[in-house]
Amino acid sequence: MRTVYVNGEYVPENEAKISVFDRGFTFADAIYEVTAVLRGKLVDIDLHLARLRRSLGELALDLPLSDEALLAIHRELITRNQLEEGLIYLQVSRGVEDRNFHFPPEGTPPTVVMYSQAKKVIDSTPAVNGISVISLPDLRWGRCDIKTTQLLYACLAKEQAKAQGADDAWLVREGQITEGTSNNAFIVTRDGAVVTRDLSHALLPGITRSVVNTLLSEHDLRLEERAWTLAEAEQATEAFITSSTSFVWPVISLNGQPIGDGKPGVLTQRLRQIYLDHALAVLK
Ligand code: PMP
Repeated sequence: MRTVYVNGEYVPENEAKISVFDRGFTFADAIYEVTAVLRGKLVDIDLHLARLRRSLGELALDLPLSDEALLAIHRELITRNQLEEGLIYLQVSRGVEDRNFHFPPEGTPPTVVMYSQAKKVIDSTPAVNGISVISLPDLRWGRCDIKTTQLLYACLAKEQAKAQGADDAWLVREGQITEGTSNNAFIVTRDGAVVTRDLSHALLPGITRSVVNTLLSEHDLRLEERAWTLAEAEQATEAFITSSTSFVWPVISLNGQPIGDGKPGVLTQRLRQIYLDHALAVLK
């Protein structure tokens, strides 16, 4: 059984308790982070903690724990659960108060929950075989750049993809693809440019996305951060997604039509390897 962290204590998962009045539960008034673990160490934890601070700031949520303290809890969970490969999930909500739309009084402590999940990240099947995606309208709220736990539409979209025999959905707003349900979306054009949506309130600033973008320029590969349409995706030679739990996964079909030759792309596979090398080099 796992040991989880709840508000300063390490407890067996079946003894962990959260109030029914927790604002994360009643209003999704909470933010989260997910950091990959390889070889019992954390991948790009500093970048995840920086984004955590940004999310907290955007929601005016106070978290009285330093980055050092958060890092120590991550590590303690890895040790207590003997986690070799997988992820650490962190969630902070605006705490507990009888249901009321206004924020709780100042000084109300946030709820902090962290737990581990064992999972194959390096040798995963989709990384080898690629995934299929469908497109769906992006019906999420207007601040998708904040990593909140308000993930209902992502769940509905993923379920709709599954119902249609696909693995995931790419979300389309005003004719342009914003991102995947839980990942950033990329295509490779016929002239070899790697294209991903530029950052705005419409999409999450993925940590993997930003690292992949940096690695592209370090390897003299051409990156275009801009809006792109479904029509352009249909003409792409390759496509892929990025996230902390997939790293880089090839996308081999879109709305039932193959992308390129319908197999994981050469550049995509190279990028996955480049990303893996990076991840193993920055473990902390
Ligand atoms: N977009 C969305 C909507 C996500 O939920 C995620 C993963 N949480 C990502 C992108 C990828 O972000 P990261 O690379 O930081 O995991």
